[in-house]
Amino acid sequence: MPGIKSYILCGVTAMTGVGLAAVQSGLPDSDTDTVQFALRSLRDGQSAQAETLALRLARRASSPVDRAWLIVAGARQQARQYESAVQAYNAYLDKCASEDLRRYVLEQIRLCRRAATGDPVSVAPSKRLTPAEREELARVDRVEHIDSTEHFVVRSRNARLTKLVARQAEVALRRIGNLLLGEQAYPHTVDIYVWTDREEYLANASDAPEWAGGSFSFTVEAGTATRRLDLTQLDDDGNFNVAMLDRVLPHELCHLVVREHFGEAECPLFLNEGLAMLAESEVNNQRVLLAGKALLGEAKIDLDALLVAQRQSLSSPTVFYAESYSVVSFLRRQLTDEQFQNFLAHVKDGCSVSDAIQRAMYVPHNSEYGLILAAAWERHAIADAQYLEAVSLAR
Ligand SMILES: [Zn+2]
Repeated sequence: MPGIKSYILCGVTAMTGVGLAAVQSGLPDSDTDTVQFALRSLRDGQSAQAETLALRLARRASSPVDRAWLIVAGARQQARQYESAVQAYNAYLDKCASEDLRRYVLEQIRLCRRAATGDPVSVAPSKRLTPAEREELARVDRVEHIDSTEHFVVRSRNARLTKLVARQAEVALRRIGNLLLGEQAYPHTVDIYVWTDREEYLANASDAPEWAGGSFSFTVEAGTATRRLDLTQLDDDGNFNVAMLDRVLPHELCHLVVREHFGEAECPLFLNEGLAMLAESEVNNQRVLLAGKALLGEAKIDLDALLVAQRQSLSSPTVFYAESYSVVSFLRRQLTDEQFQNFLAHVKDGCSVSDAIQRAMYVPHNSEYGLILAAAWERHAIADAQYLEAVSLAR
């Protein structure tokens, strides 16, 4: 099944950011082997097998392994059986005394409930393409093909690509709308130009100061606003540029929507980039890993510094991007949709990030809140990275 691995993180992060170490530690050897095997199955997208193995441990009459419920729950979550995943999480909660794990499990239950009510499980659109389709998308015609949807007018030199980009732009806009705008509709039209290659992009893009594979621009002339994205069809090897479809398109579109949403107010760089990365079509494990590692080492950027960082003064852009992604996705997970949108509104009004969160959550002002937030985020980011690392070690 194409793309199944891409949402393992959703299902499996699930399983235990915090809890993986707990699942694996202190078991007799034979149980450890079974747990490892179940985890491997889960990682490989074999959720039914993972569930069967883990259920056997969780339900056996003599010394049942309570923690195996976490794998059962993760497997069901991966299979999008959200209701029964919640039952498994609850079975674990009944036996779980650790406060960290309880918090973690409650968060997963919340995510399952949200997914059950119709949140799409994100799978990068390129994962659904066959090799033959990718090849076809790399073809360049002499003529330009134009296609329009509700919000986009797309131009490229490949008819199929033009349609695909238009469709995926609408999907990305819905995701960005959920993130930023709530119920509010997006009332504008965006022009999207897909240039053949880097050279053509650099020669034509409306705002291409450096090579990034894509860019957005928002200009107002004589009272008329122009919204535009410039993208690239082929990568440097001449293949269809899958990153354009999966990442660059939603990322740049999000910057465009943020730019207009914030208007004259300045959106802090970490938030602007964090939102744009969150808008991309699937979780990027490398960022999750890098953020966790950075927070444990010398490359760490403290939350205080991250929140006020400016592009020109970034000493380690990759760590900055990874941590920005991590902190914004952490906030998104901690806040309800409405709280998150209120948080953005308070930032736009000039509140500090820590004040904006307290206001959005209606918690009494606490001058120590910045420290509490930093500690909670760091714990979470490190646990997520350790989980991913443990899964890859279990291969
Ligand atoms: Zn960006």
